[in-house]
Order: sequence, then C-alpha cells, then structure tokens
Amino acid sequence: MRCPSCGGVDDKVVDSRTADDDTAIRRRRQCLDCGNRFTTFERLEELPLVVVKRSGDHMAFDRGRIMSGVESSAKGRTISAEQLEALALSVEDEARLQGGEITTEQIGLAVLARLRELDEVAYVRFASVYKGFDDPGDFEREIGLLKATAPKAH
Ligand SMILES: [Zn+2]
Repeated sequence: MRCPSCGGVDDKVVDSRTADDDTAIRRRRQCLDCGNRFTTFERLEELPLVVVKRSGDHMAFDRGRIMSGVESSAKGRTISAEQLEALALSVEDEARLQGGEITTEQIGLAVLARLRELDEVAYVRFASVYKGFDDPGDFEREIGLLKATAPKAH
C-alpha cells in the first residue's frame, strides 16, 4: 500500500479487523519510511489466492493453515492470537501484492521473517520443521545466526 503521506510502499499491518458483516477488512498500517499510520479498507471479493506447492500443484491459500502451523511452534510462548492472525494476514498481503500467487517456500520464508521479530524460540521451532533440521548442528547454526543479527538489548 502506498503511504498517503510520503508515498513510500513499505508498511506493516498494525491492526486488522473485519467490517460490514465480514465482507471487508479494515487495516491499520504503519509506513516503514515515515512512521505515518493510515487505514485501508479491502473488499473480500478480490482475486482468489493460489499457493504453488513444490510439486507444482496448486491449492487455495488458507490463512488458517498458516495460523495452525505457527500455533504449534508458538505453544507455551507469549504470542497472542491477535499476533498470530496479524502474521498470517501479512503473509496473505504479500501473496496479494505479488499478484495472487505464492509458493509454499515463499510462505515459509515470509512466516520465518515475521516470527523472528515476535519470538526467537517459536522462530527456531518453526525453522526446524520448515527447513527440515535433522541434526543438532543445524540448530546451533540457526541460533548463531540469530545472535549475530539480533538487535542489541537496551
Ligand atoms: Zn510514509
């Protein structure tokens, strides 16, 4: 979405709720360039989203599947249902932004990028499933990456 204030195109969804009897979604967005907050209103009759699997098969995009995949990684962590939903919605946005088609790999990477900002433990758990970790060295490497790029504590 283009920021009405500075014209920047990078933003994040800070709040999302349905409106008009669930036929529309109202989203609060924050521009990553200037910090301006604005609201978008999206009708749900938009093009259907398609997921392209590794095999080349297509299936319908299912936000619930993303949420349940992340939910199991987030078990016991302090991630709220709202955060999970915002995460899944933002992956859905990404699919729409690139024309309504997204690969399972892109979904995995999009989830990882967002999960990493929310909770490191949930991130490593999800990564272990997604990336198919099969030996402890994989975990160590991933945690090393986290430490190398984590923002400094205040
Ligand atoms: Zn802006």
